[in-house]
Amino acid sequence: MGPGRVRIAGDGPSGVTAGAGRFLRDSRYGPDGFRPGRWRGTSRPSKPFRGMYFASHFHNYYHDAPIPEIERYVEDLALWGFNTLTVWFDMHHFNGMADPRAQEMVKRLCGLLGAAKRVGMRTSLSMLGNEAYADSPRELRADVTGLWAFGVELCASKPAAVERMLGWFDETFAAFAAVQPDYLTIGPYDQGGCVCEGCRPWGGNGFLKMSRAIAPVFRRHSPDGKIILATWLFDFDRHVHKGDWDGLVRALDKEPPWFDMILAGTHNGRLSDYLQKHPVPGGLPLIGFPEISMRGMTPWGGFGANPEPAHLQGVWKEWGPRVVGGFPYSEGIYEDINKAIVSQFYWSDRPAEETIREYVAYEYAPSAVEPVLEAIRLLEANQERSWKGGDFTLPRTTLVMSKDHGAARARKLLQEAEAGLPAAVQSSWRWRVLMLRGLIDEALFAADGVPTGATDPLFAELIRLYHAENAEPDVRPPTRNPQ
Ligand SMILES: [Zn+2]
Repeated sequence: MGPGRVRIAGDGPSGVTAGAGRFLRDSRYGPDGFRPGRWRGTSRPSKPFRGMYFASHFHNYYHDAPIPEIERYVEDLALWGFNTLTVWFDMHHFNGMADPRAQEMVKRLCGLLGAAKRVGMRTSLSMLGNEAYADSPRELRADVTGLWAFGVELCASKPAAVERMLGWFDETFAAFAAVQPDYLTIGPYDQGGCVCEGCRPWGGNGFLKMSRAIAPVFRRHSPDGKIILATWLFDFDRHVHKGDWDGLVRALDKEPPWFDMILAGTHNGRLSDYLQKHPVPGGLPLIGFPEISMRGMTPWGGFGANPEPAHLQGVWKEWGPRVVGGFPYSEGIYEDINKAIVSQFYWSDRPAEETIREYVAYEYAPSAVEPVLEAIRLLEANQERSWKGGDFTLPRTTLVMSKDHGAARARKLLQEAEAGLPAAVQSSWRWRVLMLRGLIDEALFAADGVPTGATDPLFAELIRLYHAENAEPDVRPPTRNPQ
């Protein structure tokens, strides 16, 4: 365009938002004012499905933070090019849809999905194939022996249970009518499943029957909606999950798929064994489900930011050529850098380090790029830690830290970078979660993994940033004093 003008255009609203994000990140903001980014041209995303999954449970950030704050965060993610937001109305927390807490959660999730729609994103619901409320009828419950389950799930081989679940799901989809979700992801395990005679192998049998029955219920509410069949943990345990993939392949031999895409994922980040050797069943598009929140650290986010560029780059090498996109699993805001990295994998296969450079220059300051990049390498090398005996009830236990790859140096680099940041950036949550990680790691290594009086205020600040005052232990930074 002419002098003093920049035009940002896109194929659709989310493209315009992503273009605006690129422009904002390319621009510079200094004491001498605003200097617009110089990049001109056309950029098209290589992956069409660029999703984000907010897990809203355990009183984590998405469960408890003020809704306007999360809405703002949704906008930030759209600026990075994410075009789909998915949420889960986790029924096991509630006694039916009439439960006031269920109503409050519906309101919260509709608010977040509404915010996503306003910036051009598509919306998506996730659920379990045999999900149920806390007060589900005991006689209709599933046999969850050996499974990760809430224990309230129902059995897909009991006709009354199927009828009950479909009724609940119909009610749930109706509750989200205002945002009319574009996608529904139906998950088999973790939580969920049933290992009774009629349902097993759950992933290759009972789960498929349920998802086949759920699909038309969803489409009654979202006529153009697409169904994503999740295969999370398919064949994961050779005793309880055996035969999941085989069952799915056999089902698709018999009839065309009743779903549109397949989601896959495993805890270790690798492509499932089955997909390493076989094409995607039914030739369907594959969606990834990368883990960006939990690796090597419990509580999740409990020590501050967890940037893991090297790990994510390795995972992407395997998944990138196979998927049409995916949605990372997010427990909070502390993995914001990981989200940016994944957004750019989906957009243009961009190397993680390049994305971090852009992130740091924009969110912190151009002068911070080199020291922060080096600090992040050290923080990632030091990420793995565990609690003695697996119990993180403080003050009864201590942490087992990995070999120290330079925690003190990471903290020093972050403080050097901090000295050049504007005051508003120094106090921003994006900077504080990273700086706190540097301070906490150094203190923990120095004290052989024992949280001390020095770490308590650091953890307490994280709790404030995450709105985690009422959070469950898995997502609450570990102060020695629970209050
Ligand atoms: Zn069953």
